[in-house]
Amino acid sequence: MIRHTKIVATLGPASSSPQALERLLQAGVDVVRLNFSHGKAEDHIALADTVRQVAARLKRPVGILADLQGPKIRIGKFENGKILLKEGDSFILDAQCTLGNQARVGLDYKDLPHDVNRGSILLLDDGRLVLEVSHVAGAEIHTRVRHGGELSNNKGINRQGGGLSAPALTAKDMDDIKTAAQMGADFLAVSFPKSASDMYMARQLMRAAGGSALTIAKIERVEAVDALAEILDASDGLMVARGDLAVEVGDAAVPALQKRMIRMARERNKLAITATQMMESMIHAPTPTRAEVSDVANAVIDGTDAVMLSAETAVGAYPEQTVEAMARICRAAEKSMPITLDREFLDRVFTRIDQSIALSALFAAYHLNVKAIVALTSSGSTALWMSRLDCGVPIFALTQEAASLPKMSLFRQVTPLLIDPMPDDRAGMRREIERRLIEADVAAEGDLIVLTYGDRHGTPGGTNTLSIMRIGEGAQTAVPNMHIPPFH
Ligand code: PGA
Ligand code: MN
Repeated sequence: MIRHTKIVATLGPASSSPQALERLLQAGVDVVRLNFSHGKAEDHIALADTVRQVAARLKRPVGILADLQGPKIRIGKFENGKILLKEGDSFILDAQCTLGNQARVGLDYKDLPHDVNRGSILLLDDGRLVLEVSHVAGAEIHTRVRHGGELSNNKGINRQGGGLSAPALTAKDMDDIKTAAQMGADFLAVSFPKSASDMYMARQLMRAAGGSALTIAKIERVEAVDALAEILDASDGLMVARGDLAVEVGDAAVPALQKRMIRMARERNKLAITATQMMESMIHAPTPTRAEVSDVANAVIDGTDAVMLSAETAVGAYPEQTVEAMARICRAAEKSMPITLDREFLDRVFTRIDQSIALSALFAAYHLNVKAIVALTSSGSTALWMSRLDCGVPIFALTQEAASLPKMSLFRQVTPLLIDPMPDDRAGMRREIERRLIEADVAAEGDLIVLTYGDRHGTPGGTNTLSIMRIGEGAQTAVPNMHIPPFH
């Protein structure tokens, strides 16, 4: 059974060998995430090569997502690796401190003392520890511990409510964009963008470096939530980055934001990835909790393109089992979803010819109850538009562009397939499509499919034709009408 929701898996020590990668891809991973917060450029490039080799061997169009570190603010290191803070303790975040102790610790972002004042709440280690600022003295932020716990080297810091002035693209990110372009990454995730211009800048740097990655805005700042529409306009998709987002906006606000973000992305023909702690307990356990099962299912029902795994596959003890469990949960959730195509269709506004064909194909496919929608596409945009509404019919995107294939691996409901160049005549083209669909087990003799293509092959944006055909009658252009007597 086809799964519509895609799975993004972060690679790390638990998943980087060719053998581990092969098992992960077999288990159902569609896109791998390389986390640029860790590791060196040459290691990422080598890993991307390995991914491509394994994917080619398995004949799977696997996408590669390069995830920039961004201006994540971190504390420095401690003399003894870690300390224990208790409620009520005084503690200093000191931009000039080089090695921390029980009283103070350094900061990698030297401007933090300018961004906070008395009463600011700082959350450390994904919110596990909470500090309240009592006063700022030069480079020193004096705080009182509100919530204690163990604090170890290089843990992240967030400010509740946002308001940190660090720019979204650091010097390291700019270098990493070049690395991402060099490895031919299919997706570039930008961490902590605050505005549309952060995303335009990332895209421009990517293009300047010769890359073609689709850009994904990680929504994890209060400012990004406020500017969501403009950020989406400037990006190809978003990530609901629930880890940092929960700390900035408060955890309880995240589920509603997730729904809004995914809805807004789909309405604007953009992609959505739902990330962080989806199967967290499976880092250490072979089965998920009930809450995790519900969380993944609900993201599917919200309409996400993909659900993402972080530590579960990067360092977890059960990477394949996690992917298998996730795949199973996605399929069950998809089966439960009502088709709302007719209602959603009415709200769509479109003016392009190719887009009209894409949406008409959905409508026809749903009402004729066909086996598959088949889109001949070069850039993948036809398949993207089709996948923004749920008509319950699987979409097969046939393309001659090898570069479009792994990008479409993230699109919900879309299965990308590579095809050979098409014959110029229409009958020849239909025969070739039939052959490919039968070969890929998509359709069999007698199945009805909806097909879209452009009269001029390989012209991006050229889709102008909608055709309903029965497999095995490929050379014919007309299908006898099934239910309605001919008009006379
Ligand atoms: P990260 O992003 O894992 O790179 O921090 C995801 C998140 O913040 O949820
Ligand atoms: Mn984050």
